[in-house]
Amino acid sequence: MTTTIKEALQERLEEVERRVVAACELSGRSREEVNIIAVTKYVSLETAQAAHQLGLRHLGENRWQDAKEKWEAISGSEIDEDGGQAVWHFIGSLQTNKVKDVIGKFTYIHSLDRLSLAQAIDKRASQLGITVPCFVQVNVSGEQSKHGLDPEQLPAFLTELKELSSLRIIGLMTMAPYETEAEETRPIFRSLRKLRDEMNERAILPESMTELSMGMSGDFEVAIEEGATWIRLGTILVGKEG
Ligand SMILES: *Cc1c(COP(=O)(O)O)cnc(C)c1O
Repeated sequence: MTTTIKEALQERLEEVERRVVAACELSGRSREEVNIIAVTKYVSLETAQAAHQLGLRHLGENRWQDAKEKWEAISGSEIDEDGGQAVWHFIGSLQTNKVKDVIGKFTYIHSLDRLSLAQAIDKRASQLGITVPCFVQVNVSGEQSKHGLDPEQLPAFLTELKELSSLRIIGLMTMAPYETEAEETRPIFRSLRKLRDEMNERAILPESMTELSMGMSGDFEVAIEEGATWIRLGTILVGKEG
């Protein structure tokens, strides 16, 4: 491991941490309410390992094919010399035929967006004897290119999920449209929070949803101000290589 990768990462981590703390202070939130997921999809195995060694426990990836090598190197062996087991978050669109690869390795699924996927995850999880914490992905912005459910479909979808006992629906996830001004994403994040609160008030699920997965490199401070409990940071935190 070259020290330069680690040094550069350490600097970025400190800068991000300062900004997270400032956003928490601005919105009267406690720093402990906000979890950082280091999204390693744009970086090499070496960089991903360095991030984990620097204490970034939560790692996010979009595709199993791209994540496989990193998962095996960081979590695949019994020995975890660096202490602090990595916790993997699947944040990309998940194909049903990849469920068998992903479930059991990735603890959290952020992209639950259809019943067939939920059923496949539930089936695999029950085979493994585990419960999978999931976020339902909502397309708040209504952009064609974005995955996720229409907000109107959410109550019916959550009702169907109640049947699946190996899933635990812990919150909602969204991606804001790419904006040059982070401030423009605020209504999207606010809407996701309102949706979550409304679902909880209506008690559609037996357990309240406590989590909100929202905010990326360009807009995480606004997301924190609007209640994010998980921010997903790639470029700004671990960088973008190749
Ligand atoms: C790539 C990706 C991220 C991280 O993106 P950055 O802008 O590089 O921080 C976060 N969430 C999802 C769903 C992604 O696909």
